[in-house]
Order: sequence, then structure tokens, then C-alpha cells
Amino acid sequence: MHRRLFIPALAAAAKLFAVDRSESIRGKLAEPFTLVTPDGRRIHLTGDASTAGVVKDARLMGNELEAVGTFSAPGEFEIGPIHTKSMYIIKAGKRLFITYWCEVCSIRTYTPGTCWCCQEETELDLREPEEK
Ligand SMILES: [Zn+2]
Repeated sequence: MHRRLFIPALAAAAKLFAVDRSESIRGKLAEPFTLVTPDGRRIHLTGDASTAGVVKDARLMGNELEAVGTFSAPGEFEIGPIHTKSMYIIKAGKRLFITYWCEVCSIRTYTPGTCWCCQEETELDLREPEEK
């Protein structure tokens, strides 16, 4: 008599195919929704509505951006959902979170727009991750 061991082997194989395929890309945010990599490739950025708000923010153009997500097609990169904090601006070698701040209400948001409290335009506020 001998036992067959095919079930654990199959389970291990299935797990291999389910690995997280997200990766990060860096480059210059050259124009809305467009990242230019150091080797000159132009990558079209997509994402949810809040993410789209960030990658089209005029105040961020010309900055170095790091984005975490997946290539949905050649030359097209889908950034992770806004709550996964998948975007950073690189400045002087530091990764900074992209946030927006209302001075009047002390309310922080993660996409540009008006403050939901006082309706004033929020300020861009790049922060080091350890800042709270
Ligand atoms: Zn406000």
C-alpha cells in the first residue's frame, strides 16, 4: 500500500499562481496621467477617481513620482486604490506621501479638491511617512 500525495502538490501550485503581481515604477510626472521613466518610456497612468485626481494635479507636474500597481497593458499602468497609499513623490531621496490639507479645519485628504467642511480649496502637503 502506498499513499498518493497529489493534493498538497496541487495546492502549492495554485498558491504560486496567486502571488501578488504589483510592482512599483518611478519616473517624472510629465503631464496629466503620463509618467516618463528614466529610460524615456511614456507610461499612461490609470486608477480610481481619487488616484486620477492626484496624477492630474497641476501642482505635481514635473515631480518624480513613484507608483505601486500593475501593468494592465503595455505602456499602461494601473495604480493601486487610493486607500493602499500607492503614490509617492521623491524629493531629495525621500519618499513623501501625497496629501492635501485644509488649514482652517485641520482636515487631511488624499486627493485634490475642496474641503468637505468649509469648501475652501485644499493645499498640497507632501509629508514624510513618519509624520502623523
Ligand atoms: Zn476646511
